[in-house]
Amino acid sequence: MPGLLPYPPNQTLPDQIHSEISPDQLTSSSVYKFINLNPKVNSEIYHILSLEIPPRVLTFTWQLLHDKLATIDNLQLRGMTLVNRCPLCLLACESATHLANHCPFFLEVKQLVFNSLALTIQTTAPTQSLLVDQTISQKHKGILAIICYIVWRERCTRIFKNCTNTASFLKALILEEWCTLHPN
Ligand SMILES: [Zn+2]
Repeated sequence: MPGLLPYPPNQTLPDQIHSEISPDQLTSSSVYKFINLNPKVNSEIYHILSLEIPPRVLTFTWQLLHDKLATIDNLQLRGMTLVNRCPLCLLACESATHLANHCPFFLEVKQLVFNSLALTIQTTAPTQSLLVDQTISQKHKGILAIICYIVWRERCTRIFKNCTNTASFLKALILEEWCTLHPN
């Protein structure tokens, strides 16, 4: 949601909505104006909305771009006592930056998918930057968003269902999702 203030929340205050838009004035119209008068938010929203990906992936991508996923580092910032270890590679602390850029498991899945579709990206820029980069094709951004989403879902499966799928299995899921969206 655009306009939400950064975490961690002030723990001395009762629960309430924090927004740059006053709760009294929070309407569809006020959110629309906020988005259109904020060039960065405006640009990001139209970039993401232009991607041909399912709504659930759009929502996930917005959360990824704004570091709003319930990653372990974010949960720790909100006061939860947790050991931080990436459930995908078991090699580093979990954060959105790690999951979408440095995690060996993410990189393996990405490489498998890109190889299958004969895609390459000639840049080392972070995934979050690529997703809103106007010089990157819609196809590359769409695939990247779906890869991030499926890898995140695998992360949740490992934590909550104690079940592990391989990078090859995820590659097949991603290609199936992509082919459903783009049958030709
Ligand atoms: Zn990892």
